[in-house]
Amino acid sequence: MSAPLRQIPVARPLLGEQEAEALRRVVLSGWVTQGPEVAAFEAEFAALTGAPHACAVSNCTTALHLALLALGIGAGDEVVTVSHTFVATANAIRYCGAVPVFVDIESDGFNIDPSLVEAAMTPRTKAILCVHQLGMPCALQRLATIAAAHGVPLVEDAACATGSEILWDGRWEKIGKPHGTVACFSFHPRKVVTTGDGGMLTTADPALDAKFRLWRQHGMSVTDAARHGSPVVIFERYPELGFNYRMTDLQAAVGREQLRRLPGIVEERRRIAREYDEALAAIPGIATPVEPRWARSNWQSYCVDVSRLGSQRTIMQILLDQGISTRRGIMNIHLEDAYAGPGSFRCGSSLNRSVEAQNGSIILPLFSGMSDADVWATAEALEAIARSSGPSPAPARSVRPRSEAADLARKAPSAA
Ligand SMILES: *Cc1c(COP(=O)(O)O)cnc(C)c1O
Repeated sequence: MSAPLRQIPVARPLLGEQEAEALRRVVLSGWVTQGPEVAAFEAEFAALTGAPHACAVSNCTTALHLALLALGIGAGDEVVTVSHTFVATANAIRYCGAVPVFVDIESDGFNIDPSLVEAAMTPRTKAILCVHQLGMPCALQRLATIAAAHGVPLVEDAACATGSEILWDGRWEKIGKPHGTVACFSFHPRKVVTTGDGGMLTTADPALDAKFRLWRQHGMSVTDAARHGSPVVIFERYPELGFNYRMTDLQAAVGREQLRRLPGIVEERRRIAREYDEALAAIPGIATPVEPRWARSNWQSYCVDVSRLGSQRTIMQILLDQGISTRRGIMNIHLEDAYAGPGSFRCGSSLNRSVEAQNGSIILPLFSGMSDADVWATAEALEAIARSSGPSPAPARSVRPRSEAADLARKAPSAA
């Protein structure tokens, strides 16, 4: 008899009795959308991130749309961002009638290269939209300096970064304080905490927060909860064009339980990432991800460069044949047909590193409850591939520990 095939998923949400109980409580309360649970979830998320305001919405894509609209992004404007990200990042720019301007990622990571941003800016640039890809904080300090120097807002696509941290003025702070003007989060099941679908906007600007709240529920002047609770008759007004971007109380109640689990989830993911670092260290040809000195990832994903080992698809298939699920590196938006039309985007730099990262890296399994044995089994499978692939050419891109000098260069203000 052969041993049962091992099954290692690439990701798995951590949901259990607490979330089931929370849903039961909300169902039986009779109030199921944007009510007290949403308000409590927002307050708890604000406390977690240190943000003055947190506004819950239906997902991160709608969060990004509202953020850009509230900042006045409109037809003909340009927003500098990356192509190496999930398609929703740039879609939100296009929903506003604006044009995404793509710049490349760093040579030693999967985030925007801040040294390319200024050259991509024009008088039409109305915002910088950075992404904390895979949960790894991007170079926020340098981006904030550039944004301030040019008088444009910095929007953070923090879809993957709930619980990630950055060293800011000598203190560790949560992503979403926010360090830019607005940060947008996702609670899709592929992220570290989930509400099924869901999103959150955080900001320090009360005027922006007021716009998010108005526009997420049809531009209606009074909330359902306020009208319902009022002792006097209220006729609502619709002063502005809005959307239905509400989060339900069912989702928020699940989200509150997920936030309680978050510290444990992030701690476990960090432990698994360190285990991978150790297990993969001796394998020639694999470049493991690196945390800059000033960042602490939540390890939403652990992505390695395997371009020296051979074809990405072949490697993924060999792993899948052994029951190990992986995903290819993050997509490139500029290569998709939805962006083939004239005026869909502009290139703000070469995008070679973005293409190499999409085609030469894979996301390894990392989920709550993953055993060390699963980590080492994955590493052993990769080692066997490395052994059989023979001497390899130089890496297409290096994802190696940064030198101290590079770190210092990153901290320098971007005067150029
Ligand atoms: C998941 C993700 C989104 C979209 O989030 P939804 O909640 O599914 O709308 C946007 N940007 C990035 C970088 C993501 O990873």
